[in-house]
Amino acid sequence: MPAQATLEAFKAHLRGELLQANDAGYETARQVYNGMIDRHPRLIVRCGNVADIIAAVHFGRDNDLLVSVRGGGHNAGGLGVCDDGLVIDLSRMKGIRVDPVARTVRVEGGCTWGDVDHTTHAFGLATPSGIISTTGVGGLTLGGGLGHLTRTCGLSIDNLLAVDMILADGRLVTASAEENTDLFWGVRGGGGNFGVVTSFLFRLHPISTIYGGPMLWPLNQATEVMQWYREFITQAPEDMNGFFAFLTVPPGPPFPEHLHNQTMCGIVWCYTGRQEQAEATFKPIRSFRPPALDLVGPLPYPALQSMFDPLYPPGLQWYWRADFVNELSDAAIALHVKHSSDIPTLHSTMHLYPINGATHRVGKHDTAWSYRDATWAQVIVGVDPNPANNDKIIGWTKAYWEALHPYSAGGAYVNFMMDEGAERVKATYRDNYERLVTLKNLYDPTNLFRVNQNIKPTV
Ligand SMILES: Cc1cc2nc3c(=O)[nH]c(=O)nc-3n(C[C@H](O)[C@H](O)[C@H](O)COP(=O)(O)OP(=O)(O)OC[C@H]3O[C@@H](n4cnc5c(N)ncnc54)[C@H](O)[C@@H]3O)c2cc1C
Repeated sequence: MPAQATLEAFKAHLRGELLQANDAGYETARQVYNGMIDRHPRLIVRCGNVADIIAAVHFGRDNDLLVSVRGGGHNAGGLGVCDDGLVIDLSRMKGIRVDPVARTVRVEGGCTWGDVDHTTHAFGLATPSGIISTTGVGGLTLGGGLGHLTRTCGLSIDNLLAVDMILADGRLVTASAEENTDLFWGVRGGGGNFGVVTSFLFRLHPISTIYGGPMLWPLNQATEVMQWYREFITQAPEDMNGFFAFLTVPPGPPFPEHLHNQTMCGIVWCYTGRQEQAEATFKPIRSFRPPALDLVGPLPYPALQSMFDPLYPPGLQWYWRADFVNELSDAAIALHVKHSSDIPTLHSTMHLYPINGATHRVGKHDTAWSYRDATWAQVIVGVDPNPANNDKIIGWTKAYWEALHPYSAGGAYVNFMMDEGAERVKATYRDNYERLVTLKNLYDPTNLFRVNQNIKPTV
């Protein structure tokens, strides 16, 4: 532990706050979204500005502290927080500036996607993010970023124009298509391995009101619905987005009582085409098998983005397993239906996110995000408020994943992984991995930034 005088000097320098175990606010500040994570950092720096981040990077490095960087705190494996080290917490840095003429938005590292949507929507603009508005911009973007707009606009990193970041030596640099291009390649998918991103510059799209929401079918139609979906979504125009899910209907409004607590399959749609064409576009979808529940209609984009927030408040227990998938065979569908029939709790679910469309127009070596040829990112999550059910949700998730893994493409989306070891990280970056190691050797040779899906330096 650094000497008291060193700590006092550091604290006095900060515009933000330095928290230790006995300080008021420490208990709240150490908690992350996944209630299964229970870590006790020695120090939490709630940075007030970029100077605080620079000071924290120097302080962590010079005092040999384990350093973690916290954006939205949503990471499944709790990678925003560490035991016994220093947390560089960006959650107070929420500056956002839209340039409506250039159609860009500059976002500070502590923003959630809800913060961004709220601001950009005022200008009738949006940039692709995820499906829950409380997720942090930082971690989601640096790992890739899949969501409701992926088929239309690509991944979040495909809309990233530049980052400002603090490197391990404390220097601030900009990485973009013009400056530090090697670093810009690496941060687009390589996670927080290369430094602390203080702000992101994204391209915006004229997306304001979409036509979307969930459509649900009974489990006894799941095989046909999934077979139909695999053909439909791989051929649909790029203005059609829709991820497939197995889920349990929550027992409350807006869901009709006769469906409460039923396990069903569904598709959450997000059509970005012309509103006048939406009803006609959805006619064949609705007539294939009339859905048991159809909540699809015109919605402000932020309303779709935050639709599932109330169902998933912070603090639930989460256990994740994921894979990329090229093809959805009949055999794989049969296994999905079998395991989803045993969903153990109300919040547990399986999602298949399409990553074709605009995502496929970027080459697999153009950014660090390798799996451009995959069709879906699959994630199985066991979730429950009660830690007493952890064995149940973990057991179900593992059994489901083990059954489906042989049908997968090999690696998994880094943002859907917990701590699965170095081989799994390599399998995910495939032949981009060596280039990431070269970058790590150059920008973070001592692996200061290692609380992440780590690219280990070799120098
Ligand atoms: C309910 C829920 C829904 C989700 N939905 C989606 C989805 O639709 N699409 C999707 O792609 N992902 C989704 N995810 C996964 C999400 O992308 C990851 O959990 C991501 O890591 C969250 O980022 P964060 O900033 O909130 O996390 P944190 O836990 O704060 O950080 C995660 C990692 O990113 C690093 N990091 C964060 N910010 C910075 C920064 N500014 N500079 C450097 N490193 C940084 C951290 O060091 C850490 O290693 C979801 C997660 C949850 C829990």
